[in-house]
Amino acid sequence: MLARIAKAVHGCTRCALAAGRTQTVPGEGNVLSDVLLVGEGPGAREDRTGRPFVGQAGKLLEKLLAGIGLARSDVYIANVLMCRPPGNRDPVPDEISACEPHLFRKIELIEPTLVATLGNFSTKLLSGRPAGITRVHGQPQEVTLASRKVSLYPLYHPAAALYTPSMLKVLEEDFAQIPALLEQAQEPLAPVEAPPAVEHEPEAVQLGLF
Ligand code: URA
Repeated sequence: MLARIAKAVHGCTRCALAAGRTQTVPGEGNVLSDVLLVGEGPGAREDRTGRPFVGQAGKLLEKLLAGIGLARSDVYIANVLMCRPPGNRDPVPDEISACEPHLFRKIELIEPTLVATLGNFSTKLLSGRPAGITRVHGQPQEVTLASRKVSLYPLYHPAAALYTPSMLKVLEEDFAQIPALLEQAQEPLAPVEAPPAVEHEPEAVQLGLF
């Protein structure tokens, strides 16, 4: 199913980024994972390889995941944009809305319980709110995505944290909360209370007449 999306993304010409890309970056990872990470868009290396987060930011992301006992193959990694903006500039609204259906289709199929948004663009898009990452990082929000309730967890983008030690520290602290959040998100609903037991009359013993 996700392979079908990847195919649709490969041929996508919904926005002008199609003309400048080497290849699309549809996302990769464990499609059965409860955790979906959503970054911003491919950089030069991602554009060349067709894989998300394979540069320096990707190395940091893998380190952060390892810190909570996860490998990148345990989660699914996607981006707001599937094609590289020229010169790694910020995504523009037209590009974001053109690419949005691809991302939502992935969410629908993966059915994550926790969606960690990396940086401003994915946070604003998936929270549906304008509050920036500096204000909302580390604060889980319950949102409905693709008709399902999920825990949205905004985090600083690893690329921003690479060169700012204070941000890296906050990112590490926020990351450390993920296992507990996952546990909460997976908690089964409170069991439906069983109806009171019906007191059965003791079975009348059929006395033999003879
Ligand atoms: N690589 C990606 O795939 N996404 C980003 O947001 C940054 C680097």
